[in-house]
Amino acid sequence: MSLRLHAAVVLPADLSCSVVRDGVVDVDDHGRISYCGPADSAPAGAAAPERTRRLGGILLPGLVNAHAHSPMVLLRGMGGDLPLLRWLREVIWPAEAKLRPEDVRAGMTLGSAEMLSRGVTTSAEMYFHADEMAESVLATGARVVLGAPIIDLPGLRWQTMLAETERWIDADGLRFGDGDRVEITYAPHSAYTLPVEALEAVAASAHDRGALVQIHVAEAADEDTTQRAEHGSVPQLLEKVGLLRGRLLAAHAVHLSDADIALLARSGAGVAHCPGSNAKLASGIARLTDLRAASVAVGLGTDGPASNDDLDLWEELQLAAMFARLSTSDATAVRAADALLLATRGGADALGRDDIGALEPGRWADLVHVDLDDPAFATGLDVPDEQLLANLVWAAGSRTVTDVWVAGRQVVQDGEPTRVDRAEAQAAVAEAAVRLR
Ligand SMILES: [Zn+2]
Repeated sequence: MSLRLHAAVVLPADLSCSVVRDGVVDVDDHGRISYCGPADSAPAGAAAPERTRRLGGILLPGLVNAHAHSPMVLLRGMGGDLPLLRWLREVIWPAEAKLRPEDVRAGMTLGSAEMLSRGVTTSAEMYFHADEMAESVLATGARVVLGAPIIDLPGLRWQTMLAETERWIDADGLRFGDGDRVEITYAPHSAYTLPVEALEAVAASAHDRGALVQIHVAEAADEDTTQRAEHGSVPQLLEKVGLLRGRLLAAHAVHLSDADIALLARSGAGVAHCPGSNAKLASGIARLTDLRAASVAVGLGTDGPASNDDLDLWEELQLAAMFARLSTSDATAVRAADALLLATRGGADALGRDDIGALEPGRWADLVHVDLDDPAFATGLDVPDEQLLANLVWAAGSRTVTDVWVAGRQVVQDGEPTRVDRAEAQAAVAEAAVRLR
């Protein structure tokens, strides 16, 4: 059934981040946007009067979390003061070895509910038991871009994991679920956890199926010394194995040379910038302004909640802008509008998706309503556009999100998920966590 949302302010996340006062977003019967713009130019009769909602606040696209391992809410806080490789080897991998499918389902359900209530409608995920994760997300009402990790560790054969991804895509297609809410991807963990022949096999298989490949790239300076010594850099290795020929999302991408950035730009690869995780694990500060200057598609990611530790993309949006300003000594390096676009349209671009991340006819109606009853907006809406965007980005954040829609269906109301019970989801995680300690 079609729907009209009539808001005091609409932010379509177009290229100039325009601010539409007294705006309307129309949603068609399939959950796609049919109109976004000023109310006085909106088509008559697009939605029945009882299907029109007046919203007093700001309507914007759902945020896109371009890199996450959300079921890790199960491991939240474990080993939180260790460096990356010790944290993985001594704490996380041993705990993950005990994970059962139902644990992952519980973790993803809670992670998804947490993200939705913060206005994150899409997340790019890499985690074990991905089929359970798809079920969780279909239940919460969110959208996911999902891959089961392909990794070479004792007891895990990469060939088996690659074959499972192939079977899944061949059986269910690249996208499924109402509103195309699940997209399956390949998720080779990283260059340093896989042999070259595995990366080559993934590249060929993904290319054949037109699938996105998500992979961790140059996150910590010391993680991939062998790959750097042999191939020059991780992006150069990705090029050699054929991964830059198809759709690629490089997560983190902290330690890049000028040549690496040029290579990513030439190949059309996307980058998921994870400033909070990179700061907490002391991995470094990615070269956001240089990536943007080279026209690399950059989105923002929280990374897993065991390493960051919440799933609040609004914090990444602030951190991305602050780190970019600090590392360039330039307070204009990333404006509030730029930060907002990174978290919305930029995330969609990084994932190679032109059907989410902005409010434009034809895109899915993934929408967030921010309420103005908060000190952040005490100066009111009658301020210049730049000031309104500054209030939203620098002062408001996720606590002001009250309503969320995905493919036109409401999934959060008054700040709480409508399709799953948050208290039950928390209880399921509490139960699973006892066994993982
Ligand atoms: Zn990660």
